[in-house]
Amino acid sequence: MNSISRRHIQLAVVLFALFALALLGSLLHLYNVFQTRADLLEKRENTFLLGRPFQRLQREVLNLSVIVASGTEGFTPANLQLQRDITASRFFDINTESTYRLLTPELLAILSESEAHWGNLQPDLQAYIDSGLTDQAHQQRLAQSLKQLELAVNKADSEYVVRQDRYGRELTQVEGQFLEAQILTTVLLVLAILLGATAVILQLRRSAVALQAANSTLLAGSIELDRINQELALASRLKSEFLATMSHELRTPLNDILGYSGLILLDMNEESKTKTMLSRIEASGKHLLQLINDILDISKIESGRMILANEPIELPLLVNSWVGRLKVLADAKGLEFHTMLDSHLPAMIEGDSERLTQIATNLLSNAIKFTDQGQVSLDLKRHDHEWIIEVQDTGKGIPADALEYIFDEFRQVDGSYQRVHGGTGLGLAIVRKLVHAMQGNIRVTSQLGQGSSFRVTLPLKPYPQEA
Ligand code: ADP
Repeated sequence: MNSISRRHIQLAVVLFALFALALLGSLLHLYNVFQTRADLLEKRENTFLLGRPFQRLQREVLNLSVIVASGTEGFTPANLQLQRDITASRFFDINTESTYRLLTPELLAILSESEAHWGNLQPDLQAYIDSGLTDQAHQQRLAQSLKQLELAVNKADSEYVVRQDRYGRELTQVEGQFLEAQILTTVLLVLAILLGATAVILQLRRSAVALQAANSTLLAGSIELDRINQELALASRLKSEFLATMSHELRTPLNDILGYSGLILLDMNEESKTKTMLSRIEASGKHLLQLINDILDISKIESGRMILANEPIELPLLVNSWVGRLKVLADAKGLEFHTMLDSHLPAMIEGDSERLTQIATNLLSNAIKFTDQGQVSLDLKRHDHEWIIEVQDTGKGIPADALEYIFDEFRQVDGSYQRVHGGTGLGLAIVRKLVHAMQGNIRVTSQLGQGSSFRVTLPLKPYPQEA
């Protein structure tokens, strides 16, 4: 099957085209022979149609001759008169439109000659009738004239017999040709169909082979892809593990630095220049610590080392702790801070309070950070078997194209060094990873200059479990 080449198919197609052409020619020939045959059949039929009226005329002229020859021995003038009328009507038959239009020039000549004889013998015929079939002189002249008429009419006989014969012969010949053309056409038709089918089958087989080859390439590709994927997953896990360890190692000395600089600061007098510098060291140290904590969180989640707690949580207490932490920040910026806790929510739920706090405070601190006037609100609602943490603000909003990437690590709408707001660009990435780890989802809607709304939906696990 593999040896089917393009050339094989081309050969089959060329042969098919040749046979199709030959078939066309043969069909044309068949059509021509068919037409000739139909023509001959019609001519033969016409000759036959013509033969009959001439034969009748022949018979009546003969009858007339018999009556004239017999005279009063057997016939009366009335008999002769009747026979004359019958004969005249036979001439009339030939002259009817349907027969007349079929007459060949030869037959036309015969007809006019016969009519001339018929016209000439009328006076003698009338005189003979009038004599009561006794006038011998008229009888003889009439017999003579009738002989001539008979001879003229008899010519027609041979004329159409000859023609019928000729057409018959020609027809036999054409029938033979017709049969040959039929056989040739059928053979060519079968061959063309066979070659066409062969070309199609060859092409199909070739396509099947190509498809099989493509399939195996694809399979090989997907195996390779699988392998690369596994390597990538391993590399990513190693990276996260490395980051987690490194962050942990960095945190310990940094905490010492911060601790000692805090202690020194306490001991220093207010105006000291060193105190200002030390304060900057402490602020930078805190920022670094935040960054390290965020990286540590992300790495823990990614490397699968973060295990979510499943502890009973008193929801009102938890929310109060969030408000306590963040309301001061809102107040400092002169923003209103609204909280709403849906009464349909159970007072106790099961979950990881520390991680829930991380989600809520990240969203709330962003809301406060990016809002200069108006309000920030925190709504907790129940929705069937889920609960929702919604944080809304009336801040600067997020451009539509940025909604796609703000959840990616280190992505900020304003990523320039001159940006007004601080931050690591890891907050939302951590929020999304935590929400997904809790089998929930997060959606954001925002309008530039109007504000933003972050909506976290989580499965609700009341404690103790509701019936
Ligand atoms: P950052 O540490 O920069 O706040 P996040 O991951 O928390 O990092 O947020 C990423 C970016 O998303 C922010 O830098 C900010 O551009 C945008 N963003 C997040 N929350 C809001 C909000 N409430 N209003 C406007 N922009 C926001």
